[in-house]
Amino acid sequence: MREITINLNKNLEEKIASKNPLIEKNMIKAYKKNINEGDIIKFISESGKFLARGYYGIQNKGYGWILSYSFKEKIDDKFFKKIINRAISGRNNLHKDINTNAYRIFNAEGDGIGGLSIDLYSDNVLIQWYSKGIYTYRDIIVNILKKRLPSMSIFEKRRFGESGKYISGKDFICGHYPTEPTVIMQDGIKYIVNLDDGAMTGLFLDQRMVRNKLKNSYSKGKSVLNLFSYTGAFGVAAKLGGAKSTVNVDIAKRSFELTKQNYEINNLEFSDKEVFIGDVFEYIKFSIKKGNKWDVIIFDPPSFSRSKGNKFQVERDYMNLIKDVLKLLSNKGILIASTNYAKWTKEQFINNIGDVIKSSNLSINILETYSLSDDFKTHSKYPESDYLKVVVLESLLT
Ligand code: SAH
Repeated sequence: MREITINLNKNLEEKIASKNPLIEKNMIKAYKKNINEGDIIKFISESGKFLARGYYGIQNKGYGWILSYSFKEKIDDKFFKKIINRAISGRNNLHKDINTNAYRIFNAEGDGIGGLSIDLYSDNVLIQWYSKGIYTYRDIIVNILKKRLPSMSIFEKRRFGESGKYISGKDFICGHYPTEPTVIMQDGIKYIVNLDDGAMTGLFLDQRMVRNKLKNSYSKGKSVLNLFSYTGAFGVAAKLGGAKSTVNVDIAKRSFELTKQNYEINNLEFSDKEVFIGDVFEYIKFSIKKGNKWDVIIFDPPSFSRSKGNKFQVERDYMNLIKDVLKLLSNKGILIASTNYAKWTKEQFINNIGDVIKSSNLSINILETYSLSDDFKTHSKYPESDYLKVVVLESLLT
């Protein structure tokens, strides 16, 4: 590993001292031509005092991540081993949980290495690389995981194409290649995943606690509408929790089969009415016109989407859509509104929802809010790492 030294002025020195782990452009600007992805950077002050070490790796968020504030600590195999093993040991509560075998065991800067995440999916490990820089440490990291989790198969997703896009290719690294669909479990709910089929796996692990709450507290006897349903994970949770009916709406045709499989693996009855393949925006308009109502609605859109004639941008459109979705709630209906849009803080999201409520002429209570499941460790000095925001609302007729 090549180490290069960079002097920082007082201003930038303070940024490092604030313990925000992100390496910003202006910290490396003058040296950019001489740095390669994966290089270790030693930051020192104007007067030559040691500040921190990090690695150079271009991501949409910044230019790399601070790894250590200790002069003595070298960034080598031993360092990676220590940090990764510490994170894995920190998930002991989940390792012992017999109802959950899919969760995050390493969450980027929250666990000490930005640009890297590692998930467990039953007998499989999924490594996600977010820059070419961190990918230069691939062999070291894969070897650490092989030693620590010897019976696991290992997969990877390289997410350092243009603007952070997933680079397709062979995602399987080693171990036993699954010949059957992989079935994982979270809080007793089963899901089918595929770790070697493109950018997504079939399940968003970070919503585990929200799905569990939906199952246990909000579903019994209810009609449930799951918007932007993907593989129907929320729908399955609701049905297992005793929902009297579920409708999952997604524009992708593959959603039908994937949702059906997820219902069936949980021994839930599946009828074709369970999935509606089509545009959520059209579906909402149509349902308002018809006067259709649901007891529980899950609204979890992607940050951007484009469909026939409709372009959705979370910042511009989210709150307007919420206004419409509220019209579909029955009396005492529950809306679970979620976003992973990193530019909104939790406070901003709740405030914006509050404004919608005020302007809606409905009587609405915010029942509770959720963030990432606790295995998605966040970094207190880098609030963007706490990206998931979920608000649960109850609508009362006035
Ligand atoms: N809520 C899901 C994850 C949503 S991922 C879960 O918890 O598993 C985003 C999904 O939105 C994708 O499956 C995509 O196909 C779907 N989507 C994007 N634009 C859409 C649109 N206009 N109408 C319906 N579905 C859309």
